Amino acid sequence: MTFDEFGLNDQLVEALGYMNFEKATEIQEKAIPIILQGSDIIGCAQTGTGKTAAFILPILHKIATSKTKGTNSLIVCPTRELAMQIDQQVQGLAYFTNTSSFAIYGGGDGISWEQERRALTDGVDIIIATPGRLLSHMNNGYADFSNIQHLILDEADRMLDIGFHDDIIKIIKELPAKKQSLMFSATMAPKIRKLAKEILHSPKEVNL
Ligand code: AMP
Repeated sequence: MTFDEFGLNDQLVEALGYMNFEKATEIQEKAIPIILQGSDIIGCAQTGTGKTAAFILPILHKIATSKTKGTNSLIVCPTRELAMQIDQQVQGLAYFTNTSSFAIYGGGDGISWEQERRALTDGVDIIIATPGRLLSHMNNGYADFSNIQHLILDEADRMLDIGFHDDIIKIIKELPAKKQSLMFSATMAPKIRKLAKEILHSPKEVNL
């Protein structure tokens, strides 16, 4: 299946051409229509399957077609490396759209607390963050997530293994109740199903 068959915004299809993404991968073919429809989703997919673009593309499409005020989407992931990789894909795919993103992970690469604070107060469209660092900012009270429409938990199984369950719940408590939630995990272990029950509403399940 080619990407224009999903009805994605022209600027996104153009960016996909530049990135040499010609055909959708299996997870993209299954997940993109469900996310575009607005359902919550639990997706079981390993790294390397194209799962990142599977959630980024429909979110960028929604932002491009009905721009909202403030931060629209929050992507939470286990490690700074993954946060950087996700942000790179967002920047590439969003290249021809007017969408901003910022990765918050407290890296030792010169990105300061102050730059992260500014991204959170300026209301960039998409925030990608690791749980601990994000909560440290949230505890200071300036992160405005009142307009969040999409929450994505990527590599949820790894986040639980690291011990981020309680941090994830604390973060979600500060977000609007009415939003679309997407959860991706490499496994469907019982603890993942339990987390899905806690935070997703009538999710559609996608397995590879
Ligand atoms: P991921 O599983 O999200 O970590 O993606 C693995 C790699 O596949 C990344 O480098 C993506 O840029 C690339 N990729 C994702 N979707 C496609 C696609 N439809 N066609 C070609 N490459 C892709």
